[in-house]
Amino acid sequence: MAQQTLRPALLERLPSMAVGVLREIGALGDERGCHVYVVGGVVRDLLLGQVTLDLDLAVEGDGIAFAKAVADRYRTGLAVFERFVTARLVFPDGLKMDIATTRREFYAEAALLPTVQPAAIEEDLHRRDFTINAIAMQLNPGQFGRLLDVYGGQRDLRARRIRVLHAGSFQDDPTRIFRAIRFEQRFKFRLEPGTLRLLRQAASTNLIQQLSGPRLQNEILVLFAERDPVRAITRLAKLKLLRFLHRRLCASGTVMRVVRAVPQALAWWGSRSPDAVIDRSLVYLMALLSESSPVVIAGISKRLACSREQATKLSAGGKRLDRILKKLTDRETLRPSQVYRLLVDLPDEVLVLLVAKQVSRHQAAQLRQFKRYLMAYEETRTIATVLKGRDLQTMGLKPGPQYGAILGKLLDARIDGVVTSEEGERVFVQKRLSVLGHYL
Ligand code: ATP
Repeated sequence: MAQQTLRPALLERLPSMAVGVLREIGALGDERGCHVYVVGGVVRDLLLGQVTLDLDLAVEGDGIAFAKAVADRYRTGLAVFERFVTARLVFPDGLKMDIATTRREFYAEAALLPTVQPAAIEEDLHRRDFTINAIAMQLNPGQFGRLLDVYGGQRDLRARRIRVLHAGSFQDDPTRIFRAIRFEQRFKFRLEPGTLRLLRQAASTNLIQQLSGPRLQNEILVLFAERDPVRAITRLAKLKLLRFLHRRLCASGTVMRVVRAVPQALAWWGSRSPDAVIDRSLVYLMALLSESSPVVIAGISKRLACSREQATKLSAGGKRLDRILKKLTDRETLRPSQVYRLLVDLPDEVLVLLVAKQVSRHQAAQLRQFKRYLMAYEETRTIATVLKGRDLQTMGLKPGPQYGAILGKLLDARIDGVVTSEEGERVFVQKRLSVLGHYL
């Protein structure tokens, strides 16, 4: 028999301030004559004994007017999304709350966003993705903590399985294919056999192709932002879903070894540069593309409607990195400036990918050498020459392409420690100018 109210011990896992706010919001519901619920992932996580500070509330009535009343009372920020009859509140201490009108949804066309219409809470639960995400907890006083579990969400939580609410679910919204994998891998649940069959069926059609680029990108990057994306990527590969990024993308043994090496590479990078901001999801995507050609990578950037910054980072990766990695792991010793020139144009995410690639090769000595080069590169990254273009002009060089060449050589000399002072820089440049003068 399913639990009818949430055990107080579970509710206490929320910060006491959040519980107080939820009780007051329930009372506000009574004042305004409407039922108010917490819904979806929050209730799922509470039942699993986990805590989230991202609360989703559903109001049987005018959700936006209700959200405005809550925002007034707590003086929070408020953003209203009229099309989705939803409002977002951010409390000063970081608590986030989405308040929506309970609704039914119509999918006029598969894979497009639905039209929404106000409806009772039961219908609102029916439009949700999986039974474990379709449990509501009422907040009104007298009913506080009452669970509404119409579709057996608690049963499936106990049985550790992901189950859709109806056979057309993946067709209505193919993003649920990726959401199913996300929850399955996050909680180490299994897809219920009927749901797995429906997922395979949906994946065998061209439904995912119909998803817009931003929606597909969001699902992929959210999935890769999970705590253990390696499991999720392995599952995507097993279900043959990677072909929706590009028909020529394949999770070969080499690619999967790089993917599996990413956590170690990220940890190493994080221990060396704790303040570095790395787009982890993008590194996992790059690892998946580590054997891909520039053409395939460009195709994926386009399919995912990547921003210019994302596309630039992606295009710096791929198969072409092998050449750089070869030079950095060769017998021949490189000067610091040579290492600098090899790495200077690469975003940090690509440097992490290079580490992952090398880790995946299980060549201890080369990995040590490569890491030494990387650390040396970190030191040289901030080095700059004192002399700039205008100084060369003062020294008599006419503006032209030689500027870049001379300043480049000067920077190399600085990095290699051949030149160590401004005076040294001047002597270095003078020498170059006299050689040039000889040929002019
Ligand atoms: P997470 O812990 O990753 O934030 P969540 O379950 O809170 O997971 P959200 O994306 O924040 O996920 O969505 C909140 C709730 O909205 C879900 O629990 C689910 O009930 C519903 N939902 C979200 N996306 C969909 C979808 N594509 N189809 C149906 N219901 C959805």
